[in-house]
Amino acid sequence: MDKKILTIVLVIAVVVMLARPAFATKPGASISTKPEMIQARNVIADVWRSFGYTLTVTSGTDSTHSATSLHYSGLAEDYRISGIPTTQLQTMIVLVRTRLGSNFDVILEADHLHVEYDPG
Ligand SMILES: [Zn+2]
Repeated sequence: MDKKILTIVLVIAVVVMLARPAFATKPGASISTKPEMIQARNVIADVWRSFGYTLTVTSGTDSTHSATSLHYSGLAEDYRISGIPTTQLQTMIVLVRTRLGSNFDVILEADHLHVEYDPG
């Protein structure tokens, strides 16, 4: 490949990477590849980042959930909330709910945040 083209491709790749909110994945967790959850994860990671936190996905399609869980179809993910003060977390959740809209359920569980795509 021409050096000039290679440089342009690399610059585009870096810009795309920087534009995407970074997130971490707990070892063993399988993140969803569904566009709805990619969108949700980007929004949540963006809110987390604006409060100085890096989002960690603790569970996607892996692990054991209730029989009818949307986790199995890749339409739900869990996110780490430990280390975030409760009042701050409440504010962050309000922002996430506002930005994701009514097609998503954002549920604060005892030790994680559960988010699923469940329109209607
Ligand atoms: Zn869950």
